[in-house]
Amino acid sequence: MACNFTMGEATRLITLGVAVETPHHAGLAPCLDYQSEQPLAPGTLVRVPLGRRDVPGIVWRSGGSAAAGVELRAVRQALTALPPLSDAWRQLVGFAAGYYQRGLGELALAVLPPELRRLDATQLDRRLARLPGAVPSVRDDLLAPTLSTSQAAAVAVLVGAAPVATYLLHGVTGSGKTEVYLHAAAQALAAGRQVLVLVPEINLTPQLEARFAARFAGHRLVALHSGLTPSQRLRHWLGAHLGQADLVLGTRLAVFASLPRLGLIVVDEEHDPSFKQQEGARYSARDLAVYRGKLEGVPVVLGSATPSLESWQRAEQGAYRRLALPERIGGGALPRVRLVDMNLLPRDTQSAAALSPPLLEALQARIARGEQSLVLLNRRGYAPVLHCGACGWKSACPHCSAWRVFHKGDRTLRCHHCGYTERVPRACPDCGNLDIQPVGRGTERLEEQLAQALPGARVARIDADTTRLKGTLEAQLDAVHAGQVDVLVGTQMVAKGHDFRRITLVAAVNPDSGLFASDFRAPERLFALLLQAAGRAGRDAEQAGTSEMWLQTWHPRHPLYAALRGHDFAAFAATQLREREAAGLPPFSSLALLRAEAKSTEAAAEFLHAAAAAAAALPESAGVMVYPPVPPPVARVAGIERMQMLVESRSRVALQQLLTQWLPALHALRHKDKTHRAVLRWAVDVDPLAI
Ligand code: ADP
Ligand code: ZN
Ligand code: ZN
Repeated sequence: MACNFTMGEATRLITLGVAVETPHHAGLAPCLDYQSEQPLAPGTLVRVPLGRRDVPGIVWRSGGSAAAGVELRAVRQALTALPPLSDAWRQLVGFAAGYYQRGLGELALAVLPPELRRLDATQLDRRLARLPGAVPSVRDDLLAPTLSTSQAAAVAVLVGAAPVATYLLHGVTGSGKTEVYLHAAAQALAAGRQVLVLVPEINLTPQLEARFAARFAGHRLVALHSGLTPSQRLRHWLGAHLGQADLVLGTRLAVFASLPRLGLIVVDEEHDPSFKQQEGARYSARDLAVYRGKLEGVPVVLGSATPSLESWQRAEQGAYRRLALPERIGGGALPRVRLVDMNLLPRDTQSAAALSPPLLEALQARIARGEQSLVLLNRRGYAPVLHCGACGWKSACPHCSAWRVFHKGDRTLRCHHCGYTERVPRACPDCGNLDIQPVGRGTERLEEQLAQALPGARVARIDADTTRLKGTLEAQLDAVHAGQVDVLVGTQMVAKGHDFRRITLVAAVNPDSGLFASDFRAPERLFALLLQAAGRAGRDAEQAGTSEMWLQTWHPRHPLYAALRGHDFAAFAATQLREREAAGLPPFSSLALLRAEAKSTEAAAEFLHAAAAAAAALPESAGVMVYPPVPPPVARVAGIERMQMLVESRSRVALQQLLTQWLPALHALRHKDKTHRAVLRWAVDVDPLAI
């Protein structure tokens, strides 16, 4: 091996730039210089001394010369049993670190399996020896279904001699997008290449994994997500890195998998917010997948029934190639959308709020026919707040600017922001009144109301509370698939992806809350959620004709609902894009959000004001707008005050240039200037999802 050093050779010392896990703000260069007697290729994993510790690192550049007279410390150990990480991998990580404004070494090491960072050369050898051997040579399952006309057309473009490009596969729910991925993957595998498939949530991996594994029995498939044990994750990562695994299926972190023979990237449900990392390096795995495709010269397929407006806009401009699957497999109709105008209900039923009589009748009719229904409410718990009618007390969280949610099952008041939990008080803590009442409704209460209103029906609930234990979600989904449930109550968790066969009615009992939310992406998210949820109904072609989506609304004439009625994503997208363009919002501008956390609102705001002044002093601030600091929707969490400041530019490049010059100055501001001592943390979010 090229990396093996034999003692007889000349002992000229070589300088290496090594990426180590120093935080960006430590003010250190992206790479630290070390010396080695042995030439080490860039991408080699090493262990190096840093201060008094021994830390993992990645050789980023070889050669280079240290300043004269500086005594460099020596690399302790090189993990040469592992092939170096490729140039493309390092470019991807380098780009991501720069774009999302994080330290290079910080990001590079953070995206490796945690176990790999701990190992020394001997331990690594042992792990490598234990890797599974070659895959048994079975043939892939050749029993792929005959493609529908539009599937065939999409596949023809994808596997044809088409130039490498980014594709937006816009397929209505149940149109067979997965089959298109499978065909494109088969083509890449046949060419001896590896395939990377990204999905938004761990929950959705088992179903997709099963379909890929069944089709490609002759190939090794590995999963990469945070639900694996550390040793599984290492084993799977090594399988991909060593080229033994042909298919890698994973959540956002898998976009950084090392894949020496990468031939295709698929991003399923590309619009899903879960592709954006919400802490540390706040990267978008979807956007990085597109970048990686260009970098490595491989096609990228972004699939969705409700594409993000960013991707839709790029397809409109011709930057992405659009592939459309406009019909459901088997010609099944999309569910008919029916609006229940809540204004027309008698006043007393209105305030009970609830479940409108026509909706209850529709549910009853399904139960009588032995069909299933899904009732959607995007809020868990029993009631979002408890209230004392005598003195006005409400179940506020003492540590957050939020209410604590009443969970009836375990009689607790729980803060969904900081986790603070107490037993429900018997009486009002302020005035002793025994009659404290839940206000509003979450899934737990909805389940109870449905069970009361539909005697004898088998009502079940799936949300983050019912699925906390490993395996419970699978068990609950199995029960639904097996027909043991008549009415399923759930949050957005059950609205996506699942291929329910017996559901013929989907109802959203309170969708209006998304119409007037302050975040500019709220309508986009609501539309996607409702259309995805509607897509759970009538997936069985025989029942598709009678399948329906019901919406209880106070705003039946809202254009969003009109577009939903026509299952008209294009019309909805066109309206939204016009509004965004007029308002100068993404995708017509680029945003970054600077957040500060402090013990007081004033301290956080002061820091942001100082930051704004620092930006204004930079020549790069031309063409970039820095807005005044504002509190986020929930300003105080766990006793910490948060403020945020929006930075916007019509030009992505201009925004990037400002951030690159500006952020180092902010590190200095916080570390040198004693007036900002009260600021606990600050961070930048490039392309934030919610503002
Ligand atoms: P989507 O992801 O677009 O919602 P799926 O890929 O889950 O749709 O496909 C919906 C259903 O149709 C699945 O059960 C799938 O097995 C089936 N299916 C897909 N393509 C075909 C085809 N060409 N012929 C028969 N069945 C198909
Ligand atoms: Zn009271
Ligand atoms: Zn709290």
